Amino acid sequence: MTLFPEDVNAFLSSSIIGRARKAGLIDVVCHNIRDFTKDRHNRVDDYVYGGGKGMVMQPQPVCDCFRYIKSIVPDTYCIYLSPKGKKFTQAKAKSLLKKGSITLLCGHYEGLDQRAIDLIVDEEISIGDFVLTGGELPAMTIVDAVSRMVPGVLADSSCYEDESIYSGLLEHPQYTRPPVYEGLAVPEVLQNGNHALIAKWKLEKSLEITRERRGDLYRRYMKKTKK
Ligand code: SAM
Repeated sequence: MTLFPEDVNAFLSSSIIGRARKAGLIDVVCHNIRDFTKDRHNRVDDYVYGGGKGMVMQPQPVCDCFRYIKSIVPDTYCIYLSPKGKKFTQAKAKSLLKKGSITLLCGHYEGLDQRAIDLIVDEEISIGDFVLTGGELPAMTIVDAVSRMVPGVLADSSCYEDESIYSGLLEHPQYTRPPVYEGLAVPEVLQNGNHALIAKWKLEKSLEITRERRGDLYRRYMKKTKK
């Protein structure tokens, strides 16, 4: 649910997400909240009660848009993208996979009238401690993070399970051709075809980079693997 479907549609039609939709592996429908306004001038926002800068999205078009979606998918789970929400993580993305249908509600301007949140929202999610102008980028972040774990979207589950965060560590460095670029060579071990040595090198590099950059992940991983 957005006031700016054109921003979202370009993303939804290209690359891996576009291909997954074409293949019928995921179904993403963009609803324009403005289509549901009952205002004769097509307004969807108004001044803030109590004073304050900016405009707030009115509850009527948002609630009516959601009720329309509910009439098609009664068990849809409504998430409002908001800097006040709980922070989005890989674990959250994995848990959202289990929901049959998710409705992502994008705020804009100063945000959304609290009554719409109280009436239709199941959960508020933030994608980080910063404020964006709208919920469209956060919604696309969630669509992307969840969709790539849907069976068939990537070649197989190792494509996301072996990656940073999901694996519990940060990923080792990666290289492609040429073997030497501007005097920098691909590590010898990756070119010798010895799979045991390659796996050992990858794990060592992952542990090294995780210890350096994310002490929290490193400690959690070490605690888990010691058991
Ligand atoms: N006045 C709001 C506040 O202080 O909490 C911020 C409104 S923000 C300018 C407009 C919209 O962008 C929000 O309604 C929300 O949908 C979206 N948004 C901004 N930052 C976000 C974040 N970190 N995570 C998720 N959504 C965000």
